[in-house]
Amino acid sequence: MHIVVCVKQVPDTKIIKINPKTNTLDRRSAPAILNPYDAHAVQAAANLKRESDVKISVLSMGPPQAVAVIKKSVEIGADKGYLISDRAFAGADTLATSYALSKALEKIEEQEPIDLIICGLHAIDGDTGQVGPGVARRLDIPPITNVIEIVEMNRKEKTVLLKRKITGGYELIQAPVPCLLTVGKEINPVEYSPLPNMIKAARYEPIIWSVNDLGEVDRKQLGLKGSPTIVGKMFTPPKLEGGKMLEGSVVEQVEELLNILMEREELFEAK
Ligand SMILES: Cc1cc2nc3c(=O)[nH]c(=O)nc-3n(C[C@H](O)[C@H](O)[C@H](O)COP(=O)(O)OP(=O)(O)OC[C@H]3O[C@@H](n4cnc5c(N)ncnc54)[C@H](O)[C@@H]3O)c2cc1C
Repeated sequence: MHIVVCVKQVPDTKIIKINPKTNTLDRRSAPAILNPYDAHAVQAAANLKRESDVKISVLSMGPPQAVAVIKKSVEIGADKGYLISDRAFAGADTLATSYALSKALEKIEEQEPIDLIICGLHAIDGDTGQVGPGVARRLDIPPITNVIEIVEMNRKEKTVLLKRKITGGYELIQAPVPCLLTVGKEINPVEYSPLPNMIKAARYEPIIWSVNDLGEVDRKQLGLKGSPTIVGKMFTPPKLEGGKMLEGSVVEQVEELLNILMEREELFEAK
């Protein structure tokens, strides 16, 4: 079985700073890491590999430095890594990203048929959660989002049984393969990498493809040209003020609350 996991390099949003003058991310203020959800996705594939004959490839689109997230994936258990990197991909929104990734997946499929594609639930920087379903739509395979457990792979029937999180519980879904899953942290913890994997990762050289390597591609659908999304404005929301404890009898508290609300209303009307 061949599983491909899509992995994205992202800035560590726990420490990234926002430039207060330009309201843009100061990417130099934080190290680039493997998107945490994608680490869980690679681990999910590695866990399946423990039980049966599975080959794991990872695919990333990004600048040459994104090789680091492929190496990190090899540490977790991936066997092979592809990076698509070209100026033609720069400035891609989710539509153009999913187009470029789907073209790379078609090329991988030509070399080695794919049974399962796994994406993270969302990337911690762009945070749209659109790329996985976008890729599935383009490849015309079913997307199953928010998967919390891969219960069973039935190779004979070519199906996969999945547990998918829904509000207040979960649902069991049987899907035909190939299909595309998106997974969050609940699928499984990310384990410490064994030393042999770390050594393999340090020496591993991913396959790097430019746009010319992808075969027939509509360049108008790539990068900034293929991105209809326009970011109008980015800003840091104002800090929330601390709440106020109301004191006294219930009547006094209600009176004070009404005064506060009326004051606010006057403020809003004045604006
Ligand atoms: C006009 C515009 C220009 C932009 N220019 C750039 C730019 O130049 N450089 C830049 O880094 N971002 C750029 N972005 C941001 C870019 O759109 C998103 O980061 C990207 O499309 C992925 O969307 P997301 O982060 O919401 O991913 P999500 O949909 O939240 O990601 C879900 C999952 O999809 C997969 N995935 C997502 N992106 C990739 C990837 N690149 N490779 C492999 N797997 C992936 C991962 O499995 C991930 O967990 C731009 C956005 C806009 C609107």
